Formats: sequence, structure tokens, C-alpha cells
Amino acid sequence: MDKPLTATLNIEQPLDLDQYRNKGGYQGFARALDLTPEEVQQQVKEANLRGRGGAGFPTGMKWGFVPMGEDSPGRKYLVCNADEMEPGTFKDRWLMEGAPHLLVEGMMIAAYAISASVAYLFLRGEYRLCATRLEKAIREAEQAGLLGENIQGSGYSLNLHLHTSAGRYICGEETALLNALEGKRAHPRAKPPFPQVVGLFGQPTVVNNAETLCNIPGILRQGPAWYQDLGRGEDAGTKIYGISGRVKNPGLWELPMGAPAKEIFDLAGGMQHGLKLRGWLPGGASTDFLLPEHLDTPMEYDAIAEAGSRLGTGGIIALDDKHCPVGMVLNLIRFFAQESCGWCTPCRDGLPWASEILNRIESGRGSQEDLDELQRLCDFMWMGKTFCALAPGAVEPMSSAMKYFADDFQQHIDKGCCPYRH
Ligand code: NAD
Repeated sequence: MDKPLTATLNIEQPLDLDQYRNKGGYQGFARALDLTPEEVQQQVKEANLRGRGGAGFPTGMKWGFVPMGEDSPGRKYLVCNADEMEPGTFKDRWLMEGAPHLLVEGMMIAAYAISASVAYLFLRGEYRLCATRLEKAIREAEQAGLLGENIQGSGYSLNLHLHTSAGRYICGEETALLNALEGKRAHPRAKPPFPQVVGLFGQPTVVNNAETLCNIPGILRQGPAWYQDLGRGEDAGTKIYGISGRVKNPGLWELPMGAPAKEIFDLAGGMQHGLKLRGWLPGGASTDFLLPEHLDTPMEYDAIAEAGSRLGTGGIIALDDKHCPVGMVLNLIRFFAQESCGWCTPCRDGLPWASEILNRIESGRGSQEDLDELQRLCDFMWMGKTFCALAPGAVEPMSSAMKYFADDFQQHIDKGCCPYRH
């Protein structure tokens, strides 16, 4: 099976420019330069690539919203969102540490496709090894004339800058990220207008996730039909899936889109000795729990949605039968409460409130009214009531845990303690 995301990946010693080129690197970019930007967009639309940051928005369609030609003579920007901070998600880190040139090439093609002359790689601050390796790849590309003015005599010019994030979860929200890049406080902007029309410094901007961009070189080199065929079900391409929790071998694997969750659990060697799987979050902490009965579900956007959750980042978090679900959700809600930027009321007030109530329940001091209040808080923070997806995402594991593990919540109240600790 073709594994275009990891074919050139070497985590110990990533390929330098020459080694990457010897393996077909930068052929996708060369092919792009032979096409018009609109033709490159068309290739990506036909490939049916969907965003790998978590939302699954069609990448070609997103690029198509950028006003092109005489409609928009001003500067345009491409931004790579590599501020990976979703709990349970470490796929972009793997790609950037192991295949930095793949991402740089993907950014170059994407920038060309939207006629951007400046690109920013917005990287999570703690990813220091990624920063060193990406900086080296960018310098090598510059020295080889793949970045800069009039690239390879094509008339196209692109400058690519690495920017390390200030270290808050909200900086990964695309409009907060744009504010951060502008040197402002990183709070989200209202959408619409979407960044594709009014983005960085008020100019048209595309923000794409790092893994999404790593898919682009293969599409240009091998074509949309090849890319479509890589997927096993509805969605095209491959995906970096991961798993954490008390499985035998937590890790990351490149698999066809639509591989069933069971395959990922099997690659991880199953649950650790003496533990049974109780539930799992399919794609990072801000997704709904699914159950063992859902393990045959293909890990793709619509199938996971039909099962009642979201594919999100594809980083599975496993919950075992010796671990308190209330404690797990409390841990997640504490994280989200701490990371709320405070810009809108439901998130700023709702998350600390939920955290306080959950803490009461988990420590055996909760009441029946607390459960009702938690349910009310879930509705209070739902999508459409907040500026961004932080609070609605945070609610997903909590509300689904209250549905699937209702007995556990009730026992904490009835027994006045955590049944997993006594
Ligand atoms: P979203 O659905 O609002 O937007 C996704 C993308 O599509 C954005 O780039 C947006 O500009 C574009 N878009 C959506 N609707 C559009 C429209 N009508 N017109 C033009 N463009 C449109 O989602 P989001 O708030 O950007 O992201 C939420 C996701 O991020 C969640 O699914 C979550 O799983 C994920 N997430 C990932 C991480 C991580 O570390 N990778 C961290 C937190 C959250």
C-alpha cells in the first residue's frame, strides 16, 4: 500500500534536500509551477482532500474561496496551522520531526495555488525539535532557489517564515492564530467573514493544518485519481491515526482513510493486561465518546458522525474499565477551562463552573441537582452560542460521558465517593 505521508519520513535523521529530491521530493511543486494556480486548485478539489486539523472541511473548496485575479490584486497569505495542542493528538509533530521537507513542499504548492507571496508556518512553541528541523529545511529550500524571488524562473515569488506560538491552546483556532501573528491578543474573530476573504492583516488568507498540507505534494505528483483510490471508503487518501491511553503500544500509523478503529487498536496491541476497553474518543479530547460496539466503524468523517461523534484529529484516546470516566472528563474539562481565552461568556464562565461541579461529583460531594446543572451547562455552551469551537468541543466528551456512563455519575452521588478508588 502507498504511504505518501510517511514514505520519506525518518524520525531519527530526516532527509536533507538532496535525499528528499532523490525520493521524488519537490516534483509535486515543479508540476504545480507548470499549471496555473486555478488548475492546481482543481487537482486538489478532484482529489477530495478534507482538512486534517479536525473539522474535515474540503481543502480545494477552501482554496476556491480566495478571490483571485483582478478581483483581488493585493497580497495574499498562506498559513500552516502547526499549533497542535489537542489532548491525545501528536500526529503533526511526528510528520514535522520526520519529514520537514514534505511540509515545506506542501506549503509551497498551496501558496502557489492561491497566489500567496508570503507564507507563515505557525508552530507550537514546545515543538523545539520540529522548529530546528523545519528551519533547516526552509534554509535549504531557499539556498536551492525553491523559495524567494522568481522561483526557478517561473515569475512566482514566495517567502516562508517560521513563527513559534506563544503557548496557548486557543492560538490554534484559526482566527485567534491570525490575531497572534499580528501581535495581538489571541482571541477568536467572528466568522464570517472567513479568513479566505478577510484574514491576516485584513488580506485573503488560507489556514491549513500541517497534515493537510503534507498530502498536497503526492496529489500533484501522482494525480487526484491515485489519491482518491488510497482511501478505503468514502474519503480519499491516507491519514495519520494515533492512539493513547492504557493500550499495550500507544503510537501513530499511516493507514487508508476509512480503516476501522479496531485496526488501530490491534496495531496498538489491544488493551494492557487485565484491562477492558470501556469507551474511546475518536479524534482528540474534543470529540464524543464511542463504545466498544463502535469499533468496526470506519475512521472517516461521515461514518464517525453517524456513529455519534467526530473523526476530529484521528488521535484516539482509550478509556479502560479500571479508570473512572468522571475523573477522566474532569481532567479534560480542567484543561479546557484553563485554556479558555475568556473572550465569550459561555466559555469563560461555563467551563470553570462545569469543572467545579465535576470536581464535587468526582470527590463524592455531588448532588442530583449537580447532574441537572451539568446537563444545563452543556446546552449553555453548545455550538452557535460561542465565538469558536473550544467550549462546544469541550462539552462533547462530558455530555457523551453523561449519556454512556450515567451509572458511574450516579454511583458517585449515591455512594458519596469515587467507586474506582474505594
Ligand atoms: P470549522 O468547521 O469552523 O472550520 C474548519 C475550516 O473550514 C476553517 O478553516 C474555516 O475557515 C473553513 N470553513 C468552515 N465553514 C466555512 C464556510 N462556510 N465558508 C468558508 N470557509 C469555511 O472548524 P474550526 O473551528 O476551524 O476547527 C474545529 C476543529 O478543530 C474541531 O473539529 C477540533 O477537532 C479541531 N481541533 C484541532 C486541534 C489540533 O491540535 N489539531 C486543536 C483543537 C481543535
